[in-house]
Amino acid sequence: MNAIELKGIRKSFGASEVIHGVDLAVEEGKFYVFVGPSGCGKSTLLRMIAGLEDITGGDLLIDGKRCNDIEPARRGLAMVFQTYALYPHMSVEQNMSFGLRMTGTSKQETAERVAEAVRILQLEPLVKRKPAQLSGGQRQRVAIGRAIVRHPRAFLFDEPLSNLDAELRVQMRVEIAQLHERLGSTMIYVTHDQVEAMTMADRIVVLRDGRVEQHGEPLDLYNHPENRFVAGFIGSPK
Ligand code: ADP
Ligand code: MG
Repeated sequence: MNAIELKGIRKSFGASEVIHGVDLAVEEGKFYVFVGPSGCGKSTLLRMIAGLEDITGGDLLIDGKRCNDIEPARRGLAMVFQTYALYPHMSVEQNMSFGLRMTGTSKQETAERVAEAVRILQLEPLVKRKPAQLSGGQRQRVAIGRAIVRHPRAFLFDEPLSNLDAELRVQMRVEIAQLHERLGSTMIYVTHDQVEAMTMADRIVVLRDGRVEQHGEPLDLYNHPENRFVAGFIGSPK
C-alpha cells in the first residue's frame, strides 16, 4: 500500500518552474530519502507534501485521497526542520504539548503522549529546561518529540542534522533509524548528504533540477546507476 503518491507534481515560483512533473509512490512504513544537490527542489517537494507550499500542477494523494487543497494540520503529517523551530520561552514539555493542545487534544491524552515521546527520546532530565539551555542534539530531539506526539501518518524531515557537528550527526542518524524501527511509520527524509542517504534509506529518490533522476533501494542504485549523475552522486565505482 502507498502512504503518499505524487502524480505529475509541478511547482512554479512566478514564471519559473522548479519542479517539473514528479511521479512517486511512497510505500507504507518505509524510510525514504530524497537526495540531491542544493537547489534541486528537495525542500520544495517536501513542503508541497506538508502543505506549506501550494501545488502548481498534478495530484498529491495521502492514503489514496487527493490532498492538494487540504490544510497542513489536517494532512496527518509532521515535519521536523533543520532549524528546530522551537518556542524559546517554553520548556521542553511545553514545546511538545503546545501544538496538540491547540488542535483540541485533551489534557490527559496530551500528557500521555508527551511522556511517551520523552521516554522514547530519553529526555526525562530535561523536560523543564528551555531551548537555550539545551545542546544542538537535545534541541533536535525535542523537535522530533514534537512530531512524535502528533502520532502522524508520516514524518517529514528536512535536513534535520545539518546544523550538528559530525559526531553528533552520526549519533542522531542512528537514533532516527531506531525511531523508524520502533514506530514503523512512513518517513521521508531530505538531505544533500550521500552517506546519510546510503545508510538510512529503504528507498532513495535522487533528484536533479526538479526531476526524479532515479529511485530505488540503496544497493540497487549503487550497483546499477542509470547514468553518470547518479553514479557520481551516490559514489558508485565508475
Ligand atoms: P533544495 O532544498 O534541494 O536545496 P529548494 O527546494 O529549496 O532546493 O529550491 C529549489 C529551487 O526553487 C531553487 O532554484 C530555489 O531557488 C527555488 N525556490 C525555492 N523557494 C523559492 C521561493 N519561495 N521563491 C522563489 N524561488 C524559490
Ligand atoms: Mg532544502
